[in-house]
Amino acid sequence: MDIIPYGRQDISEADIEAVVEVLRSDFLTQGPVVPEFERQLARYAGAQHGVAVNSATSALHLACLALGVGQGDVVWTTPITFVASANCALYCGAQVDFVDVDLHTGNMSAQALELKLAASKKSGGLPRVVIPVHLCGNPCDMEKIHALALQYGFRVIEDASHAIGGNYRGQKIGNCRFSDITVFSFHPVKLITTGEGGVALTNDGALARKMQLLRSHGITREPDEMTQAPDGPWYYQQIMLGYNYRMTDIQAALGLSQLKRLDEFIQKRQLIASRYHQALSDLPLALPQTEQDDLSAFHLYVVRMLTTHPAGSHLHAFEYMRENGILVNLHYIPVYRQPYYQKMGYRVEDYPQSEAYYTAAISLPIYPGLQPEQQDRVIHTLRQALA
Ligand SMILES: *Cc1c(COP(=O)(O)O)cnc(C)c1O
Repeated sequence: MDIIPYGRQDISEADIEAVVEVLRSDFLTQGPVVPEFERQLARYAGAQHGVAVNSATSALHLACLALGVGQGDVVWTTPITFVASANCALYCGAQVDFVDVDLHTGNMSAQALELKLAASKKSGGLPRVVIPVHLCGNPCDMEKIHALALQYGFRVIEDASHAIGGNYRGQKIGNCRFSDITVFSFHPVKLITTGEGGVALTNDGALARKMQLLRSHGITREPDEMTQAPDGPWYYQQIMLGYNYRMTDIQAALGLSQLKRLDEFIQKRQLIASRYHQALSDLPLALPQTEQDDLSAFHLYVVRMLTTHPAGSHLHAFEYMRENGILVNLHYIPVYRQPYYQKMGYRVEDYPQSEAYYTAAISLPIYPGLQPEQQDRVIHTLRQALA
């Protein structure tokens, strides 16, 4: 039986050649390819600066640090995300709180955010940073979130790990028009890959420079940034406590080659999504919906089951699909349900929409190499599962 995963990378001969070329060159890391990848990513998304790192998790960590997140601060994100969107705040010694989602999109609800902000202003616990996540590639209500950021004085990091190539209000996600920093992931299941990798985009030169320094030990070779004139040409200074979060030139070469193919990947994902939409519309499922001027990158295609009939239960559908070689998945277990977070005292009752999402969501296979016959099999098997 042919196994169909929920997502997978698409590597071409040109991608392989681009990597081999770096392997034969002088620099495997800290060479010219990483800055070129950063320039191209920034240009693609319409942002001023790009800082490439070894994962989106690292990019989220650096973004929080650059925005001054530390002990005594609170960072808010959505529960329906990968744990990295919340962990980044804990790395900085800050606390995390969650804003409930809009059931229809699974994205952080701007209304819930507004209510929580008003309540927190009274009790004194406003966030320093809010991290909305464009779930599946479908953008959050960034205009509203941005307006609330100005009103309540918090900063915004877009976790766009699912969303490179998508549009918000007719413009590319990643242009940071409504945020301080946007993060993309290049893990193999994401839209384009570098094996492992991520980037932080921003229009603020000072934030970009801070993330560059933090990515590489907090070391500078710029005389302007030093506390004294250089002792000699060998000289560098460590001026803050940074990390080794660097991306290699090998990874960046793969990323550059993949970036050339991104628009074609998005088109293929759009086509698969529209085929699902047509083939599943008569079933008791809520299908993904995108606002008029937005374009979802369709990193994931998540349907929500609307039946409560035991024969058509969520668990049954999962088991049935997996038994038939279709590796459906669930994005995501709400982060507050993880044992590590449970210890911090979150209550499931505070997140009714996230709970409803969790008990109904199924991610169907979607990736550029998914063939029409394979998709037909997914559709057929899902119909049987719900019959
Ligand atoms: C994948 C993912 C991350 C982490 O990405 P890595 O590059 O694997 O570190 C963060 N947030 C979301 C929403 C993700 O899907």
